[in-house]
Amino acid sequence: MTVETHEFKAEMKRMMDLIVHSLYSNEEIFLRELISNASDAIDKIRFESITHPELLESNGDWKIKLIADKEAGTLTVRDNGIGMDKESVMENIGTVARSGTSAFLEKLQEAEAANLPELIGQFGLGFYSSFIVAEKVVVESRMAGDPQKGIRWTSDGEGSYTLEEIEKKERGTDVILHLNEDKKEYLDEWRIQAIVKKFSDFIEHPVTMDVEIPPMPSQDEEERKETEKEPKIEEKTLNSGQAIWLRNKADIKPEEYNEFYKHLSKDMHDPAEVIHFSAEGTVEFKALLYLPQERPFNLFEPEHKNGLSLYIKRVFVMDNCEELLPPYLRFVHGVVDASDLPLNVSREILQQNRVVETIRKNLVTKILAAMKRMLEKDYDNYVKFYKNFGQILKEGIYIDWNQRDTIANLALYQSVEKPAGEYLTLKQYYESMPSKQEEIYYLIGENRAVLEKSPYLEALRDRGFDVLLMTDPVDEWAIGSLREYEGKPFKAIDKGELKADEEEKAKQEEKKKTYGSLLDYLTQTIEPVSEVRLSHRLKESASCLVARDEANSAYMENLMRRLGREEEIGVSPRILEINPDHPAVKILNDLFDNNAEDPKVADFAWLLYDQAVLAEGSKVQDPQAFARRINDLIVRTGLS
Ligand code: ADP
Repeated sequence: MTVETHEFKAEMKRMMDLIVHSLYSNEEIFLRELISNASDAIDKIRFESITHPELLESNGDWKIKLIADKEAGTLTVRDNGIGMDKESVMENIGTVARSGTSAFLEKLQEAEAANLPELIGQFGLGFYSSFIVAEKVVVESRMAGDPQKGIRWTSDGEGSYTLEEIEKKERGTDVILHLNEDKKEYLDEWRIQAIVKKFSDFIEHPVTMDVEIPPMPSQDEEERKETEKEPKIEEKTLNSGQAIWLRNKADIKPEEYNEFYKHLSKDMHDPAEVIHFSAEGTVEFKALLYLPQERPFNLFEPEHKNGLSLYIKRVFVMDNCEELLPPYLRFVHGVVDASDLPLNVSREILQQNRVVETIRKNLVTKILAAMKRMLEKDYDNYVKFYKNFGQILKEGIYIDWNQRDTIANLALYQSVEKPAGEYLTLKQYYESMPSKQEEIYYLIGENRAVLEKSPYLEALRDRGFDVLLMTDPVDEWAIGSLREYEGKPFKAIDKGELKADEEEKAKQEEKKKTYGSLLDYLTQTIEPVSEVRLSHRLKESASCLVARDEANSAYMENLMRRLGREEEIGVSPRILEINPDHPAVKILNDLFDNNAEDPKVADFAWLLYDQAVLAEGSKVQDPQAFARRINDLIVRTGLS
């Protein structure tokens, strides 16, 4: 039998040094890599044998066996997969011919030393990770359908490897790791079991190990002697086998889905919705996703991360995979099992990987479609879900341009016409708009009770127009980003001018003649406002404040002020609108016409302003002055 010695290419050597000495903080993943290779090899023969059943050599009992030999100090990963012949060993192991390796080495030339760890994570380095724990690695392999020739590859990872022909009865590959003196922990049964459970539990093929069964205590002297002589060995399967997301939907019971959800999410409740699908085509993956029902306590905390686990070829890769879900879906839990990513993929790479991009788009589409289905078919459940997560979902309206309209159609709003606790969609609002209504009216504020009493609603109510009542801070940005729905612009009823019809406009022009000088006087006197004008929107109230169309709502300004972040958005100047039909305004106008110097005129003017400040939900700037004016009024009316 001849033994050939081959030199590693220089770059190869350098790469192995890098991997072994500095790059894997998490050395136990070597086992994951080897099990994954073994599983792939089994997948290959399984596939080949469909058309070439003779390749099976009547051994189709797929298995990955781990053999810990404490005396020899070796850990072997044995599979009965496709196996390798001499050529494929030379090609696959210990050369730079593989596309991943050469691409890696190209990058390596350019990269600065500091970037190396990230760089290395981008490529599937699989087999080479053996050298993190082993001083010598032996690969013995025999290709399916080639019973004559087996091959042994041996290397210490130091610059050369040897090849020799061997006899090997069983098809498949043994990777034999001669563990470093300080890595003997990987011979420990419990350690091995824990690693398999952690990283390879959902590997489809059984991963087994022979374990010693301690002899049963026996009364029978004869029997005891027997068992002491020969400890019982039992082959134990370490992984739980087929992953639920790989199974056929039709075979999975709702309880099984729910149990897996609870295991994933640590949520005690059942999920609101299960989304299970596989994608085929250019990018292949399977996904099992869940929409929760209940809000986790830390949903709005910065440390809250999504509950999506990434598997690559059934091998667990990472939790909370933020690259696969946009932040506005961070309440989703589940598993994505991708076929087209390298196992050692790093976060940095995920961020710019096209496969990941495709998967993410696909997930988003599927999740939003599931929500739509719920909204249409399972409304009560949807409302429950939406109340808990709608606020987050709506972030997507301004984050995700592509899905903006889809998400807008999933939003639920309260409105003036709908009783408290009931909701409508934008579509429903749009469809029930009277034909003369040109804009979609909305008002943003703290809560429904406050909004319902708002003076801004008065004229619209009078005209028979419904108004959406929004109470989530994100509504401000969401509506600002949407701008219109089905061609109808959104209109905040506390901002800008309210459209009036011709008749109304003519009436207003007429009234301006009567009120013109009062308006000038008020504009001069009430310094905090930029303008004073007659209102189209008031019926019962005497006055209100209006922001410019492009300004933030008073609600948002107040919110930011409370958070100490008012500088970020600034405070926009207000316009004071007065209701020319209100008796208080009429009296003020008469007093003013009579004698503009009358101190009551200024007092009443300020009272009109202060009540408008209170109505928009803000604080009066000078409570003492406000109280004095009110008290003067009480005294005066009390006396007369
Ligand atoms: P990767 O698995 O990312 O391709 P590896 O370095 O782990 O990288 O493996 C290189 C190649 O060696 C594999 O693509 C495969 O063709 C071959 N190989 C590795 N392990 C086995 C095995 N147990 N059985 C058959 N072929 C294997």
